[in-house]
Amino acid sequence: MLTATKLTKTYRDVQAVRHVSLSLEPGRIMALVGASGSGKSTLLNLLAGLADADAGEVRLNNERVVGPSEVLVPGHANIRLVHQEYQLMPNVSVRENIKYALRFFEKSYREYRVDQLLKLCRLTDVQDRIPRQVSGGEKQRTAIARAIADKPAILLLDEPFSHLDLPNRLIVRDLLFDMVRQDNGGSGQTSCIIVTHDATDALSIADSLGIMRDGKLIQIGSPVDVYRRPTTAYAARMTGPVNILKAKHLPTLHLPDTNNPNELVCLRPEQIHLDETGATGTIRALFFKGSHYELEVELSRYVCLRLLTTRSDMQVGQQVRIRVAAESAWYLKP
Ligand code: ADP
Ligand code: MG
Repeated sequence: MLTATKLTKTYRDVQAVRHVSLSLEPGRIMALVGASGSGKSTLLNLLAGLADADAGEVRLNNERVVGPSEVLVPGHANIRLVHQEYQLMPNVSVRENIKYALRFFEKSYREYRVDQLLKLCRLTDVQDRIPRQVSGGEKQRTAIARAIADKPAILLLDEPFSHLDLPNRLIVRDLLFDMVRQDNGGSGQTSCIIVTHDATDALSIADSLGIMRDGKLIQIGSPVDVYRRPTTAYAARMTGPVNILKAKHLPTLHLPDTNNPNELVCLRPEQIHLDETGATGTIRALFFKGSHYELEVELSRYVCLRLLTTRSDMQVGQQVRIRVAAESAWYLKP
């Protein structure tokens, strides 16, 4: 089990990480989502023992993870960090890049394990090429294969999906999902922390989802909980498309009463339905999204709502009626 207690890190005048505490059980995936500059990469470096915290501590199975100022070789033997930019060795093959992580193992095991990793990460066909000759997705998978080669207890991934196309995102997502679900035979089950600025990929595989803002971990919970019950407008926006409006501007939707008319209502597009008995609005924009259409419906001068429909007979300028189920409205403090 990995725990961090009140981690703090300041670069001159920037408080990159502020009092962050978290814990991660074996075989679990945590996703950390936050805007650029919110301290995600700094936090991963602290967790990996690759940066010194100003205050607070990291423990792996109750043993302290020390920063570079306290050890000769920075980093912890059981924790791997896959950097945003992969950091592969440019002049050696995919196979050799992975094999390097196994240099302390006996030769026959090393060859066996490399073959296994190449297959697992779908890299067998490109194993003899150097990083420059493979695609972004293949580079990413090489970096992951190298990181998991000697079965670390903790795998930390910095924006693993950001440079990938959709098929590659799905491959990497499934790879990580399968990896943590298996007992890896090394130090027990691997746990994983995935840092991302886009929650969509993380929502489906993470057991817990944390929201980072200005160096702080401002909310953490199950993905479903954070998505449906964000505590701030920021957390709501970080976890997917959302409409955030003042409750007092939505009288025609007949939402449950609140004590404070300035309270903000948080409505996900999929919680708003076209319904002949609902409030009247006008379609201001229409976007084809493949599986559905996204509509922008103006209810009044102050209010334009995004919603989804699979109907294909809608047009800009058309009047429609919309409804929100009372139980789906989620209120935020202004
Ligand atoms: P994220 O990964 O969420 O984009 P970072 O952890 O990289 O955020 O950065 C958090 C904050 O710390 C930012 O304001 C960034 O400019 C600052 N920062 C990061 N690394 C350094 C550094 N080596 N020196 C000075 N400031 C840094
Ligand atoms: Mg970063």
